[in-house]
Amino acid sequence: MIELKDISKIYQSKNGEITAVKNVNLSINKGEIFGIIGYSGAGKSTMIRLLNGLEKPTNGTVIVNGKQISSISGNELRNARQKISMIFQHFNLLWSRTVADNIAFPLEIAGITKNERSKRVKELIDLVGLSGRENAYPSQLSGGQKQRVGIARALANNPEVLLCDEATSALDPETTDSILELLLDINKRLGLTIVLITHEMHVIRKICNRVAVMEAGQVVEQGDVLQVFQNP
Ligand code: ADP
Ligand code: ADP
Repeated sequence: MIELKDISKIYQSKNGEITAVKNVNLSINKGEIFGIIGYSGAGKSTMIRLLNGLEKPTNGTVIVNGKQISSISGNELRNARQKISMIFQHFNLLWSRTVADNIAFPLEIAGITKNERSKRVKELIDLVGLSGRENAYPSQLSGGQKQRVGIARALANNPEVLLCDEATSALDPETTDSILELLLDINKRLGLTIVLITHEMHVIRKICNRVAVMEAGQVVEQGDVLQVFQNP
């Protein structure tokens, strides 16, 4: 489903070169929940930008859904990226739009008709447990509810992969658990492949099948969560 082959990403900065990611090899299976954990500066965000095709690696290849997204561009890249969705730490909702209209936004961009949109939005609202909040504005929602909107919006166009960028880091522990349970439920129900980056071990332990541990741009360990984090 996802293959990273000998990936490196080097940024040029005023003070010289910064190697954000170095010689990373990973393969992520269809339908699994894969975690990437590391401290700040480890290279996690760079990995996400490489996975969603927002950046090109300096070396190596990134393959997602059979497309070599590290080497395509233009329309081909745009089409490939439609199947790769994201949720964010700070939700990135549109504040002047209601819950329903936030969720409908990617459907509008995809040119889905109004009738189809309403039907799909209703399904998504049910899926994420926001029934009754369709007409609320983001500012009227709790953090957990905002992330539910983010998840519904991310699923609108039936992605193959959901990338979660510190998606629970702004939430309290209880809300974090409820969002992780929702992600697990969606993974089981839709068979969606989920990749999440986090600095929190608890998040990985709770829902991931496998994990890669990053330090200074390198994957220093990877494998089954139980193996990697077993207590000595
Ligand atoms: P993390 O998400 O784990 O905190 P990042 O991927 O954001 O790590 O950063 C990894 C390293 O790459 C850091 O040293 C960071 O300063 C550097 N870096 C990230 N993005 C850029 C960029 N656009 N330009 C220059 N350096 C960057
Ligand atoms: P919270 O109170 O839930 O932490 P934030 O203030 O962090 O919410 O904002 C959440 C997200 O919404 C951020 O990504 C921010 O950029 C975006 N945002 C905030 N205000 C607006 C606005 N007026 N219009 C569009 N987006 C906004």
